[in-house]
Amino acid sequence: MSAATETNATTRPFEADVAKLLHLMVHSVYSEKDVFFRELIANAADACEKLRYEALSDGSLLGEDPDLRITLTLDPENRRLSVEDNGIGMSEAELTDALGTIARSGTKAFMERVSGQKEGENSQFIGQFGVGFYSAFMAADKVDVVSRRAGSQEASLWSSDGLGTYSLSAIDLGEAPARGTRVTLHLKEDAATFAESYTAEHTVKEQSGHVPVPIFLREKPDAEPKRITDGTALWTRPKSEIDAQEYTDFYRSLAGQFDDPALTLHYRAEGVQEYSVLAFVPGSKPFDLFDPDRAGRMKLYVRRVFITDEAEILPRYLRFVRGLVDSSDLPLNVSREMIQESRALGLIRKGVANRVLSEMNKLTEKDAPAYTRVWENFGPVLKEGLYEDFERRDTLLALSRFKTTASGGEWRSLKDYVAAMKEGQSAIYFATGTDLDRLASSPQIEGFRARGIEVLLLTDQVDSFWVTSGLDFEGKPLKSATQGLADLGSIPLSEGEAAPAPASEEASSFIAFVKSTLGDIVSDVRASDRLTTSAVCLVAPETGMDRQLERLLASAGRLDKAAKPILEINPRHDLVERLSRLGDTETGLREDAAHLLFDEARIADGEAPLDPRGFSDRLARVLSRAAG
Ligand code: ADP
Ligand code: MG
Repeated sequence: MSAATETNATTRPFEADVAKLLHLMVHSVYSEKDVFFRELIANAADACEKLRYEALSDGSLLGEDPDLRITLTLDPENRRLSVEDNGIGMSEAELTDALGTIARSGTKAFMERVSGQKEGENSQFIGQFGVGFYSAFMAADKVDVVSRRAGSQEASLWSSDGLGTYSLSAIDLGEAPARGTRVTLHLKEDAATFAESYTAEHTVKEQSGHVPVPIFLREKPDAEPKRITDGTALWTRPKSEIDAQEYTDFYRSLAGQFDDPALTLHYRAEGVQEYSVLAFVPGSKPFDLFDPDRAGRMKLYVRRVFITDEAEILPRYLRFVRGLVDSSDLPLNVSREMIQESRALGLIRKGVANRVLSEMNKLTEKDAPAYTRVWENFGPVLKEGLYEDFERRDTLLALSRFKTTASGGEWRSLKDYVAAMKEGQSAIYFATGTDLDRLASSPQIEGFRARGIEVLLLTDQVDSFWVTSGLDFEGKPLKSATQGLADLGSIPLSEGEAAPAPASEEASSFIAFVKSTLGDIVSDVRASDRLTTSAVCLVAPETGMDRQLERLLASAGRLDKAAKPILEINPRHDLVERLSRLGDTETGLREDAAHLLFDEARIADGEAPLDPRGFSDRLARVLSRAAG
């Protein structure tokens, strides 16, 4: 491993973000240094897969060396280690782009994550963020990258100590691999063991044993390479021969995660389309779950050749699934774009999505607690499917879990809910909000509680969207508890609850007075059958949007005009009874009361009084009168 002779070297500064990233890598991510192995080998394997793909249209790229491989060379005496591949390679410009700048959005997310994290937790995330190469500087104080692009007559050397600059130069072809890239690490003193064969072999087998390119190890610069992994694709082996640990290792190297998969799917589909699937539901949330592009992470292979990870094999609401599909039937020699559009891929998409959902459903029966963890991690994502995937709505509703007024903090299925419905109850009731506790104690659902009617408490952003799409479950419509009439009259009260007396004549005329006083700031004022202990609440009109959805849209600037709410008044409430008895001479107080009741209802919904100035004036008048 002689140092390459540099000719015409130019030195350039790293892009500011790279410099920051490197600093973080070296200073705050210092446990689990060995992840750099996994990252460099993943890059080498990617490079081989890229070449395999390009060679489909230009066979000459493979030249006389068609067997793709990765070679690890150790040099313990000089504390050096290199990872070499005979893959696609990089031109000088590509070296600058790939290793001097960070074009990816993942970088910023990564840095935020690292800065906010405890030491040692960070290294687990590196691979997910597309900044893997730089992890080499965790173990090395100098890194050389020599590369020659397949088919090119030029080779270059990139070299850096990771401290702010890198140098780039053209080198003699004789000093570079005939094709591909060699990354050499000048190891730091405390990382010397990575150049020892036991550590290196052990680490690589464990972390990268299943990359689909064989790995060879040379124990000394002049030693014969021996093969340490066979590069057979795990998914092509029969299920019965693969143990759980092998699946987990594969999942980790594929997903860049360090957890255990919550669900592993490995099967071969036969019929109109033949393909193998190996996919995992992660055991924890990947960082990019709520990225705006909502991109999936399923890879597409055709007869073991990696084609693309942008085939959108699964619907967006299953974007947390990590894995691959390897098709036996898709043509290899068409472009990525044409494959995307093909009918065959359409069938694969449908089949894989159905299978993922049916496996999740099986898990609900086989291991309910394990499914609950899946739901806790991915429920808010799965629920996107309730309004995006009309065809699978029923399946998704059956997979959905909810906190409810009766669940004591546990998750309930709609099946459980329906089984516990009260006599005379015809709908599944829900309330949406942002805070579980506040929602559970909101006045709008008092009447439901009094009748022992369970209400789903929905607090994910996505909830406001799917609930408005007119769903039903087993023939029972979903109905907002805070919208329209509560229809509670036909459902008997729970034992110990007194039947509400009808509104008195005085109360009715007070309610009419409130309505004429408030005028057009409300769409109606009416006596409530849903309130039991509170005096007032606001509900949305029967048709139109839920109030929570209105709030969400308004805060996103996507609502022109909010619907006017309905003010419901509890005619049996002590305060309301007293106000009802006030004589006609008390018009001023009655008017103040009308407005204050309205603002009270807004405040209970977490909103500010409609007119803060008017509110304080009225409150002052009423309080000073009370004080005499
Ligand atoms: P990622 O692999 O997620 O893209 P990395 O930081 O690991 O991020 O690598 C950055 C880029 O450098 C890669 O996308 C690739 O273009 C290039 N690269 C790294 N290693 C190699 C290699 N051995 N052969 C070819 N290109 C490579
Ligand atoms: Mg990488």
